[in-house]
Amino acid sequence: MTDALGRPLRNLRLSVTDRCNLRCEYCMPENDYAWLPREDVLLFEETSALVDVFVALGVDTIRLTGGEPLLRRNLPALVRMIAAKRGLKDLALTTNGVLLADRVDELKAAGLARVTVSLDTLHRDRFIALTRVDRLDAVHAGIAAARHCFGRLKIDTVVIRGVNDDELISLFEYGRSMSAEVRFIEYMDVGGASRWSAARVFAAREILDRLRRYYGIIAPIDEPGSSAPARRFALQDGTTFGIVASTTEPFCHACDRSRLTADGIWYSCLYAARGVDLRAPLRRGAGADALKAILTSAWRGRTDRGAEDRLALGDRRAFVPVQDLLRRDPHLEMHTRGG
Ligand code: SAM
Repeated sequence: MTDALGRPLRNLRLSVTDRCNLRCEYCMPENDYAWLPREDVLLFEETSALVDVFVALGVDTIRLTGGEPLLRRNLPALVRMIAAKRGLKDLALTTNGVLLADRVDELKAAGLARVTVSLDTLHRDRFIALTRVDRLDAVHAGIAAARHCFGRLKIDTVVIRGVNDDELISLFEYGRSMSAEVRFIEYMDVGGASRWSAARVFAAREILDRLRRYYGIIAPIDEPGSSAPARRFALQDGTTFGIVASTTEPFCHACDRSRLTADGIWYSCLYAARGVDLRAPLRRGAGADALKAILTSAWRGRTDRGAEDRLALGDRRAFVPVQDLLRRDPHLEMHTRGG
């Protein structure tokens, strides 16, 4: 099934909670948040029923996210249910790593295939300033445990000018020492990033320049047909890394990603103003065919190019600058939509 611009429905980011145990300055900078009502959050059986419909329509890659997915109680049970779906090729998890060390073995045993840990700095004082908690050691332990369990992993780093753009080499070397491919991500002006400004974006070409100055020749890796958000590169010694240039070089033309929130609202673009409510029909008793019809009609009509539309704006400010609006509708937040 393809959308109005010929893009397939393939990649689902499944948010299992809107709660997070960090308060990253670029994602959840406010003091108060409106949380999703508990009773709206889907039961695992409900999520699993929706996943069946997505997989039947072509989704073959699922990433569990949030909020912080490891805050969801009994997550391995959901992993077990999803990993068993026929037709699914990849089941990954994105986590801040704080709770990972104790849980990674159980998650792998349940069928999780891969882990990505988000880590923006190696300095404890910066970590505290960025996240408002003192848990860098726990993240290191989580990364070490993931390496031990899976052999390798990915590390996602959001690069913000004046915050951590001086750590590209040390993060790269840390990744290399932990068998992790680092992906440098441009700061995006998504929902909760109310402190975003264009001046704080450290662009992909600057990231590449900085790494080239230190490492010398860096070659792009040719991955024909890839819809992955990261463009990948290799040093001459073969070490690879990625850059996700969502802000300065968006890749909407190849985007096969959609997002399901923990309360069952489906977004076909990170920047979409509205989502499709799947919880209501599911709880009214809609069967697989009825749900398939809802998804099919929404995806076939999909014309979203959210990041490209944002880039086309001249004077660019935070996407949702009004705090009251964010407070009234948590669905506008990145931590609700699932990053
Ligand atoms: N809690 C998990 C984690 O930390 O990976 C999953 C959810 S988090 C929203 C997913 C990813 O989105 C993290 O790597 C985070 O750094 C990234 N992110 C959040 N806000 C962002 C922004 N404004 N620009 C770019 N990436 C952002």
